Amino acid sequence: MKIKTKLRLGLGVLFSMILTLSLIAASYIYALKEDTDNILQDNYKTLDYSRSMFLVIDQIHTDPKALMKFEQNLKAQQSNVTEPGEGEVTSKIVSHYNALKKDIYNPQLPVLIRNDLAELTRINMEAIRTKSDKALATVRSAFLWIALTGTVCFLIALTLLVNLPGNIGNPIRELTESIRAIAAKKYAERLHFSGKDEFGELASSFNTMAEKLEEYDNSNLSQILIEKKRIEALINNMHEPVIGLDENKKILFANEEAVKISGIAVSDLLGKSAVELAVQNDLIRALIQEKSSENQNNGHIGSAPLKIYADDKESYFEKEIVDITIVPTGERQKKFIGQFILLKNITPFKELDFAKTNFIATVSHELKTPIASIKMSLQLLESQQPQALNEEQKQLMSSIKEDSDRLLKITGELLNMSQVETGNIQLNIQQSSPYAILKYAVDAVKTTVEQKHIELVIQADDQLADVKADMEKTAWVLINFLTNAVRYSQDESKIYIQLVATEQGVKFLVRDEGKGIDSRYRSKIFDRYFQVPGSSKTGTGLGLAISKEFIEAQGGSIGVTSEIGMGSTFYFELAKAV
Ligand code: ADP
Repeated sequence: MKIKTKLRLGLGVLFSMILTLSLIAASYIYALKEDTDNILQDNYKTLDYSRSMFLVIDQIHTDPKALMKFEQNLKAQQSNVTEPGEGEVTSKIVSHYNALKKDIYNPQLPVLIRNDLAELTRINMEAIRTKSDKALATVRSAFLWIALTGTVCFLIALTLLVNLPGNIGNPIRELTESIRAIAAKKYAERLHFSGKDEFGELASSFNTMAEKLEEYDNSNLSQILIEKKRIEALINNMHEPVIGLDENKKILFANEEAVKISGIAVSDLLGKSAVELAVQNDLIRALIQEKSSENQNNGHIGSAPLKIYADDKESYFEKEIVDITIVPTGERQKKFIGQFILLKNITPFKELDFAKTNFIATVSHELKTPIASIKMSLQLLESQQPQALNEEQKQLMSSIKEDSDRLLKITGELLNMSQVETGNIQLNIQQSSPYAILKYAVDAVKTTVEQKHIELVIQADDQLADVKADMEKTAWVLINFLTNAVRYSQDESKIYIQLVATEQGVKFLVRDEGKGIDSRYRSKIFDRYFQVPGSSKTGTGLGLAISKEFIEAQGGSIGVTSEIGMGSTFYFELAKAV
């Protein structure tokens, strides 16, 4: 039954019962009133007339007033005959009275009249008793009916009071709870209202909605799970190790390759904090180290590859850390949600690089001897028959000399570079005088400087402390700075060499007035084989790279300041010998 109908029915019954109760009560009250009215109207008056007649009967023959009073009351009684038998008794009184009027001193007649009056009183008293009994019965029946109807009303009201709030409130409460559950994504929530009322319909609509939401959610979830599996399979099939971290550096995933090289079981890897694992595992530590901290000192040189034992041999990996950011639904700001670390296996390239370095080392080493013998032969030729050569031959000889010098320089640089690449720099660090280094370098570049009519301006502080240096390699760097300065300076310009005392030791500076270096290339000129586009192609692009290695191997620092068109200043600083 519908709630509306239930309510209508309940309240309707209650209302009609109250109405019935009121009607019953009213009708009984009316009946009681009628009963009392009758007693007053019919019997009380008759009794009053009888009493009045009784009181005056004995004075009739003496007092004409009494006669009149008797007659008045008799008349009134004649028009107030209400009870059965009352008419006959009244007629008897009338006939006795008429007889008394004719025979006024007859002593029998007043007695008869008294008897008649007594009879009249009795009839009316009887009637009063009967009516009183009837009224009592009416009261009893009124009480019964009112009590009965009142009880039914009370029971209906009680039933409504007990059931109605629950009947309406409980389903609403359940509905509210279920809506909350749905809002919390618990789509399995259902309403269980049986019955065909409004709540039943509501429950069925609600359950349909929840079912559809559940289905939608499940379909989405399974889709997401499939996509997840696909991506996992993709990552697992990658030949390069990949590790995924969340924003708190917790390991979310690691493919088979990554697990293999880390040497940690998958169960000990997944879900664990990479920072905590890094305490015991060197590889994880190296992996999560951010690039910035690695390259703080030399921003322009890429991070060293990681050497890991994998594939039954020493393997080299290049690490790439990719930050993952998303813009969450409904938001505008990007949010960092984690990183993935990708390791590129560069072992084959490294092997090729080793082969190249070895080849260069062997070739440059092998070339050094024939070049040296060419130079020796030239010197012999020059010293033995200088006058036998004509001008043209002399020119040829000097160009052979220049070329063999350049060849020697190149092979020297290549040899140095191969030493640097294989990590075989042999340092002979001693307490060295900065002035001695300066003199050595200046002497070495003297001829070149003179050829271009360049003026070397030397500004050295007095009493410079000795430095901790490999004399030969430091001089090599200074010579490289100077030959570069000469090469990139105009004829007849100036090159300034400064030796400055610093807090740590001594700073060597070579300033030229050449074309300067574009800011785009300034960070790259210390890279191996790098040459500024458009600059002289005669060099190898190795000089500054070797210089950097030499100086840093000695614990010093190296750098350049330059402005395009304003010349360049190359410098290095070495610590003083204590
Ligand atoms: P290279 O053998 O080519 O000179 P370097 O490593 O010595 O190799 O120098 C790298 C590059 O730096 C050069 O190709 C040149 O373009 C630039 N460079 C070096 N020194 C100077 C300088 N004093 N003035 C302008 N450019 C320079």
